[in-house]
Amino acid sequence: MTYSDSRRLLAQASRIADAYLAALPERPVGRPVPVAQLRDLLGGPLPETGEAPDAVLERLAGAAEQGVVATTGPRYFGFVTGGSLPAAMAADWLTALWDQPAFGYIAGPAAAVAEEVAAAWMVELLGLGEGRPVSTGFTSGCTMGNFTALAAARHALLAKAGWDVEAKGLFGAPEVEVVVGAEAHASVFLALQMLGFGRARLRQVPADAQGRMRAEELPAVLAACQGPAIVCAQAGNVNSGAFDPLAAIVEATRAHGAWLHVDSAFGLWAAASPKLKHLAAGIEQADSWATDGHKWLNVGYDSGLVFVADPQAHHAAMSLSAAYLLMAQEGERDPCDWVPEASRRARGFAVYAALRSLGRRGLAELVERNCALAGRFAKRLAAEPGISILNDVVLNQVVVRFHADPGGRDDPQGDDAFSKAVIAAVQQEGTCWAGGTHWRDREAMRISVSNWSTTEADIERSADAIIRCCRAARAAKVA
Ligand SMILES: *Cc1c(COP(=O)(O)O)cnc(C)c1O
Repeated sequence: MTYSDSRRLLAQASRIADAYLAALPERPVGRPVPVAQLRDLLGGPLPETGEAPDAVLERLAGAAEQGVVATTGPRYFGFVTGGSLPAAMAADWLTALWDQPAFGYIAGPAAAVAEEVAAAWMVELLGLGEGRPVSTGFTSGCTMGNFTALAAARHALLAKAGWDVEAKGLFGAPEVEVVVGAEAHASVFLALQMLGFGRARLRQVPADAQGRMRAEELPAVLAACQGPAIVCAQAGNVNSGAFDPLAAIVEATRAHGAWLHVDSAFGLWAAASPKLKHLAAGIEQADSWATDGHKWLNVGYDSGLVFVADPQAHHAAMSLSAAYLLMAQEGERDPCDWVPEASRRARGFAVYAALRSLGRRGLAELVERNCALAGRFAKRLAAEPGISILNDVVLNQVVVRFHADPGGRDDPQGDDAFSKAVIAAVQQEGTCWAGGTHWRDREAMRISVSNWSTTEADIERSADAIIRCCRAARAAKVA
């Protein structure tokens, strides 16, 4: 094999990509595929001698035809997946090509500086820290962003109590209390369990009907805390899109001397929009934030981000040192000092490309357009007898309930089953894809509009398909 083989194969990959992108807007979005079919296409014994690389690519492309969900297409509304902006996707290809082990400046200077520049842009754009220095790490996702931020919080609070947690661990340490909202994302609990805080050793603040922390109850919860405390708030509930009342949470947290972390996996990007940033008012005063590039910024997977308004604590919690790693010279930034990993993909290139290709205005427009489309989607569905919207549509999320009774009377159990049946029918039909959720004791469909390429026409087509599936399910039930 030689590098001319690589060049030939990349041209082949480019042809596969071209065909994929040409078909993407019109192909069925995510029809379920039997697992046996994919095992047939991909399985079999490990080859004894290697196969021709072009045949290997063709095999993968064949399996992808059956088993790749069109998550980057305009009518995928599952989870909060985002898409992949053309510039970000292309930069990601180049990232694979250059294959920088981006732990340090020395092994990937351009990667280190792309991160540095993108980090400064984001801190400015999102207004984080209000003038305090803010450090940034490029992680695999928001879960590791939450982990990193909470590790920095653990360092800062225990250092203040005279305890070096990185050296001595948690055994015998002063106890740190953790306060979360009742609707905190599962990812926060995973981060807490990995950090030795435990995922059940928490104080919970109740949430309101939209999933927002009841901030008026926070002062009493904090007053009951024995030692140093961390408060985990949320910007963007994963079902409703609602924001915790951050200004009030900041006030209570500051009054207690606690650390405020905000899990804002997608909601943080609302702070980039002059029209929407009121939803996140106060967020700039938190101590740490975790978000995703791979959600609303429309960078490909894997792209998490963490920001900490205490660079010294962030660095102390994450840096590693070994003589051979030749750490940065004065003024250079080593990416690995701000994340849990050492060797890692040069994640900064794609984030940099997304930000540079959108600009401040483009990002605001992307976020605002998605929110307007979510509102339009909700209005269309709500106009259909027997479909209800369960949340206040304040952002890009819509929670939809389907009633067997076209009059819209809710039958708790019957409509749980009916809603699930409609969701399955919509997924099977293939015009669009949305997942199910359990929201306030009800089964419902969860729609997230977070892709740069979604248009009004996509919303109309998708709403039509959902309404058709709902009517057909009702007709089948009566028959
Ligand atoms: C998606 C999400 C996470 C987890 O992010 P990953 O990138 O999947 O690790 C955490 N919190 C919220 C609110 C989310 O929406």
